[in-house]
Amino acid sequence: MATSPPRKPTMTERPDDVIVAHYDQALSQFGDTARGALWPNEQDRQTRFDVMLDVLAGHVGEPLVLCDLGCGTGELLARIRQRGISNLTYIGVDRSEAALDYARTKFPGTRFLRLDVNALDADLSQIDCDYLVANGLFTVRHVLDEQQMAAFVDSTIRRVWPHVRAGIAFNLMSGVVDWRRDDLFHASMDDMARLLHELAGRRVRMRADYGLYEFTCYAYKPIEPPATDVRFDAPVRVLRPSLPTADRLLPYLRRIDGARIYSNFGPLVLEFESRVCTLLGLPTGAVVSASTGTAGLVGAILATAGRATTTRTFALMPAYTFVATAVAARECGYEPYLADVDAETWMLDPDRLMDHPSLDRVGVVIPVAAFGKKLDQAAWLRFREKTGIAVVIDAAAGFESVSENPLACLGPIPVVLSFHATKSFATGEGGCVASTDIELVARACQCLNYGFRYSRDSQSASINGKMSEYHAAVGLAEFDQWDAKRDAFQSVVDNYLKRAAEAGIGTRLKTAPGISSSYILFQCDSIGHAERVQAELAADHIEYRLWYGMGLHRQTHFSALPRDPLPVTGQLTPCVIGLPMATDLDDASIERIVRAVVAGSRQ
Ligand SMILES: *Cc1c(COP(=O)(O)O)cnc(C)c1O
Repeated sequence: MATSPPRKPTMTERPDDVIVAHYDQALSQFGDTARGALWPNEQDRQTRFDVMLDVLAGHVGEPLVLCDLGCGTGELLARIRQRGISNLTYIGVDRSEAALDYARTKFPGTRFLRLDVNALDADLSQIDCDYLVANGLFTVRHVLDEQQMAAFVDSTIRRVWPHVRAGIAFNLMSGVVDWRRDDLFHASMDDMARLLHELAGRRVRMRADYGLYEFTCYAYKPIEPPATDVRFDAPVRVLRPSLPTADRLLPYLRRIDGARIYSNFGPLVLEFESRVCTLLGLPTGAVVSASTGTAGLVGAILATAGRATTTRTFALMPAYTFVATAVAARECGYEPYLADVDAETWMLDPDRLMDHPSLDRVGVVIPVAAFGKKLDQAAWLRFREKTGIAVVIDAAAGFESVSENPLACLGPIPVVLSFHATKSFATGEGGCVASTDIELVARACQCLNYGFRYSRDSQSASINGKMSEYHAAVGLAEFDQWDAKRDAFQSVVDNYLKRAAEAGIGTRLKTAPGISSSYILFQCDSIGHAERVQAELAADHIEYRLWYGMGLHRQTHFSALPRDPLPVTGQLTPCVIGLPMATDLDDASIERIVRAVVAGSRQ
């Protein structure tokens, strides 16, 4: 391995300039990898990212600005996206143009600044942020001596501190180790404590419990009391679910205590399934519960199409859906094949797919009832009859549309519902498969229970996807309060619609009954419009969410899937913004949300 000999700083350079050159050399030698950033391996690097992000603890969900000082090629942002942390506006800062080139290519649209925070003329207002992290900025000392390195740390922290509103985190090599590397900076915890206590008082944490030979320092600003002349509004969360309280659960939990049956289709699960059947106008046996909606999808796929075969490898699905659809198909051995949705319905169009060129390789089609919209069972039944291909309907968020239109939504094709906490009717985790084909539902039940049917003999591909008695207890208590919960949702929807109509944006607001009560969606007419709305929401600390991300094909794990051109999905994903919803969302918050949306909708 050829490395050039370490270079000493010249008279006109600051000592740390040499470190920048050292990093650039590693990057050109090893590329955009952990080693190219002078980390020994990828796994430890991911651990460090997570330890850095712990600085946000307690603030997850609020819109925040995070500055990544010494961002290198921006891999922390990849980790943030991978973890689904969606409330952060990220600013990457580095001195290396080569590293920033990589970062900008990977994350177009994200702010990456070339900035030397120790330069006397640096405009540090550019890094104004809620939280700042510096991962690995102070660990490599290269040819600097201990004193030069300590001075670099001290100067950097003092200079950035005034530009941070909430807190900082950075890591250093531990001084308490049995061997030291000459090129690393092994710092003293006491020295760091002295610096940070001076800046942050007692609001300092250090941790060395994550298995690496280093420690991470956290320092926090005092929470500033709101200035009296500025109105300070608490953040509005995008979703605050309300499931049955402990008091409402207690009678059901006592029944579990009495029966001493905790799972395996016990009395509470059977009662829950029968209440779902009654609500959906189905006979007993037409619904089987599942541990999650995703498990319900797996059960329904295995019961209809079985696992993927060598000739039928694809599960055809929309790119515009939550990842669970693809996860379930993969679990059954299928390669998701992504098709575009219809611009009006936001869903797959069965007639258009009827002569799709890849149909002969498709083992199962999984149309998705986007946001719990009503999905036409009859049209998919025609598709199934014409093509002979199995169909499973992912109506995860569709509890209301299905229960309000059971005749249109239900039939021989299995319909999968989710009872996840974020869905309108919720058991915490949970789901079900519903179909008028009772034999199919029995097979789904078998596939959710180790392939057991009449005996303890495993007879088919399967998982353990059963709902426990405890979740059924929540489900039964949720049934008890369902009318009240639906009314509460409805009154929030009414308030939203009234405010939006007054403000002239009513037609862009999508609400129940067209979609599930747990979503309030605002549809922008362009990406520019969506960016302005999102900026206004963030500025007023109103959380929002693109519920289906930027589409399945933009999820890291699913980025290489085979797919059709996806112009509609590409247009919809950034433009359909999920606004806050909760059964107790008050009128003042709704007014505030609509005000921000209106502000973002002005040209
Ligand atoms: C919620 C959801 C799921 C997954 O349901 P879980 O109960 O969370 O497993 C699947 N598909 C869609 C479209 C969803 O919205």
